[in-house]
Amino acid sequence: MDNFKNLRGTVDLLPDQLIKWQNVEKLILEQLFRASVKEIRTPILEMTELFMRGIGEGTDVVSKEMYTFLDRGERSCTLRPEGTASVARALIQNGISTKPSQKLWYMGPMFRYERPQAGRQRQFHQLGVEFIGYESVRSDIEIITLAWDILDKLGIKELNLEINTLGDDIDRSNFQKAFLKWLEVNKNSLDLDSQKRIDKNPLRILDTKNVQTKQILEDAPKLFDFLSKKSLERYINIKEKLKLLKIPFIENSSLVRGLDYYTHTAFEITSGLLGSQATVCGGGRYDNLISQMGGTETPAIGFAIGLERLILLSGKDLEKSRDTDIYIVNKGFNAETLAMDLSRKLRNFDLKTELDVSGASFSKQFKKANKIKSKSIIVIGDDEASKREFVIRLFNNEISEDQQETISIEDNIKLEKWLKSNLLLDLKL
Ligand code: ATP
Ligand code: MG
Repeated sequence: MDNFKNLRGTVDLLPDQLIKWQNVEKLILEQLFRASVKEIRTPILEMTELFMRGIGEGTDVVSKEMYTFLDRGERSCTLRPEGTASVARALIQNGISTKPSQKLWYMGPMFRYERPQAGRQRQFHQLGVEFIGYESVRSDIEIITLAWDILDKLGIKELNLEINTLGDDIDRSNFQKAFLKWLEVNKNSLDLDSQKRIDKNPLRILDTKNVQTKQILEDAPKLFDFLSKKSLERYINIKEKLKLLKIPFIENSSLVRGLDYYTHTAFEITSGLLGSQATVCGGGRYDNLISQMGGTETPAIGFAIGLERLILLSGKDLEKSRDTDIYIVNKGFNAETLAMDLSRKLRNFDLKTELDVSGASFSKQFKKANKIKSKSIIVIGDDEASKREFVIRLFNNEISEDQQETISIEDNIKLEKWLKSNLLLDLKL
C-alpha cells in the first residue's frame, strides 16, 4: 500500500518549526492582553448559509474557495474560510452583540480551496481582532495601530499600510448606478470573470487581478467621487489622526477587499519582503454585517493577520527556544525513584528540566545531555540515592571543583544558592 500523504495545500508543522510559531503567538497574545482584547472561540465548522450571507455570494471566497459538504444529516456544512462571520453569528446567537465595547480576538485554522504556493495554503491560520459596537474614528485608529504595533513588535521590516474608504450603503449604491452605466458601454473589453460579475456583484470587479481589466478600470467612475460629505470627512479625519500618530500610510483607491461586508475604512498591510503574496494583514469596518445577519444595528471594525506570512517575515531570533536548565542523569532502582521525585519538584520551581528515562548507561545519558546543550546536569546513582542526595554541576566537559556541588534532596537553600551563582537564576525555591 502507498504511504499516506497530507492533502494538497495543508502543512504539517513540526516540533522545531513550532518553536517560532509559539514565540510569535506569545508576543501577539501579550500585546492583545495589554490592549485589553479578549479571546473568543467559535466552531471551525458552520452552516454553509452563514458564509453565503455573511461574506457574500459573489465573492471569490464563497463562489470558488469554500470547503463545503453535506453531513450525514444532509445539512450543508462549510469549514470556515474566515473568522468574522462566525464571530458575528456567535454574538447574535448568544445575545451579546449589543453589549457595548467588546474588543475580541480569535486565532486558528481557516480553509480556502486555492492554488497552493508560498504564503498561500488551503488550510492556513489567521489571527483576527474585532471591535464590536464601535463607531467612532477613534476605534478605526485603534484597530489600525494595534495591527501595526503587532507587526512592528515582531520586528517585521518594509511594512506598508494602505488605506481606502468604501463609503456607506448610499454612497455605494450611487456609485454602483454610475458604474453599471459605464460597464454597459465597456463590457466587452473586460475579462470573462469580470463580465460575469456585472449582474451578480459589480463592485467585486474592482477587486480583479486581471492586468488588462485593471487598466481599463482606470477610466471608470471612482467610488471616491460619490462619497457623501460625512463619509469624506470621516476619511479625512482618519488620515489626519494617522499622521498625528506618525503611522505612515499610502492611499490606495483600488483597495476594495475581497469580502462584501466592508463599509468606510478598508486597509491592508503589506511587506515588500513577501513577493507576490504580499498582504500580511487585511481589515476594515463592517457596520452592516451584524444587522444583515439578523442582529441589531451594531457598527464594528476588525482585521485578520495571516500567520503563515507573518512567520515567513519574522526574524531568526524567534526560532530559539529556552535552553534546558537541568538534565537529570540517573541509573539504579532507588536512583530512578529519587530522580523522578526531584524532576517534579524542579518543574514546580519553573526550571526547565529533562528527566532521562532511557535506563541507558551513564555515559549514554551524558551524551544526550550534551547533545541538547543542557545548562547543567544532575547525577544520581544508587550511591547518592542511599544518602538522599544528588550531584549538580554545570554542563561543560571540564569540571572544576567549585562548579560541582553535592546537595541533599531536601536542601532547597543550597540548591537555590547554586542555581543563582552558576545559572544566574534568581528563584525562590
Ligand atoms: P489574498 O489577496 O492574498 O488572497 P485575501 O484578501 O483573500 O488575501 P483576507 O481574506 O483579507 O485575505 O485574509 C487576511 C489575511 O489572511 C491575508 O492578508 C493573508 O495574510 C491571509 N490569507 C488569506 N488567504 C490565505 C491563504 N490561502 N493562505 C495563507 N494565508 C492567507
Ligand atoms: Mg484571497
